[in-house]
Amino acid sequence: MNRGNDRLENLLIPFELLEPRTLPEALSMLADDDTAVRPMGGGTALMLMMKAAVFTPRRLVSLRALAPALGGIALDERGALCLGGMATLSSLEHSALVKTHASVITRAMPQLSNVRVRHVATVGGALAHADPHMDLPTILTALDARVQIAGPGGSRELFVDALITGYYETALAGNELITGVAIDAVPGRKAAYIKCTTRAADDWPALGVALSLVCSGGHIETARVVIGAATDRPTRVPAAEAALAGALIEGTTLAAATLDRVRDAVASQVVYTSDAQGSGAYKRQLARVHVVRAITAALQA
Ligand SMILES: Cc1cc2nc3c(=O)[nH]c(=O)nc-3n(C[C@H](O)[C@H](O)[C@H](O)COP(=O)(O)OP(=O)(O)OC[C@H]3O[C@@H](n4cnc5c(N)ncnc54)[C@H](O)[C@@H]3O)c2cc1C
Repeated sequence: MNRGNDRLENLLIPFELLEPRTLPEALSMLADDDTAVRPMGGGTALMLMMKAAVFTPRRLVSLRALAPALGGIALDERGALCLGGMATLSSLEHSALVKTHASVITRAMPQLSNVRVRHVATVGGALAHADPHMDLPTILTALDARVQIAGPGGSRELFVDALITGYYETALAGNELITGVAIDAVPGRKAAYIKCTTRAADDWPALGVALSLVCSGGHIETARVVIGAATDRPTRVPAAEAALAGALIEGTTLAAATLDRVRDAVASQVVYTSDAQGSGAYKRQLARVHVVRAITAALQA
């Protein structure tokens, strides 16, 4: 039988599609011990995997009816920006709150996929899918975002770099759901994301560089430098962060010696993977160039 028929047969395998009305109901329909049972946010990644016959569901638990409860964008009492797990990427793109409190997300969104996908894809799906080429997890890692997770035993929080543990792998149990993401208000924080594509601007990136700098009194106090897309998961570069901490800001740039240390750190401390978007060596060179552009962009933000 040829591969086309395999795919057709896969699409014809029946599965359950459930639509719970509440979070506890949704959690009770998931299964920790069956990878063929999955929650469905926007379905944009799941449908591609089903069409490609790399995922055959036994049960999909659609979270669509939870969107009114889990799709909001708000500030909490401590000023943290809270994005609901069912908030769509286009709601982030057009949110005045996101623009005010995390404008790096607003600036990145138009380059993320296309408007049709952004209208349905969700924050929860973007994080749980853990495709290393995705843009949002890299940005959220640089913002020290906290991912809120609900499960049968209660709720917990993880930073994005603890949530995404490897190539398409997360720390989520099969019966847990991402209910939201919180980004703390940090005075003086400036952030930038640079997406490098080798084809169309909204294509999958060959490299994503996300950077956040907490600035005070003309110098950088702390930094986050995160490489995405070119690695098996969003990867912080502690040596580059250490090189930036304490650096004096000169206009919208830093001393040449500091920039050299940052370039060397991203080149030598990260394992770059080769794929359809380019070789590891090419991506390493992209990172050397774009990390400095990201610093300038952050300082101008
Ligand atoms: C044509 C196309 C182009 C794209 N280009 C880009 C791009 O340039 N940059 C980029 O970053 N992304 C891109 N994407 C990927 C897109 O961002 C993801 O498909 C999307 O974010 C997934 O969200 P979803 O809600 O549709 O997830 P779904 O497809 O519903 O789910 C994805 C995975 O997450 C799980 N899941 C969903 N919601 C939850 C939840 N709340 N809690 C726990 N697990 C959950 C599902 O079980 C599944 O395993 C592209 C996608 C397409 C189809």
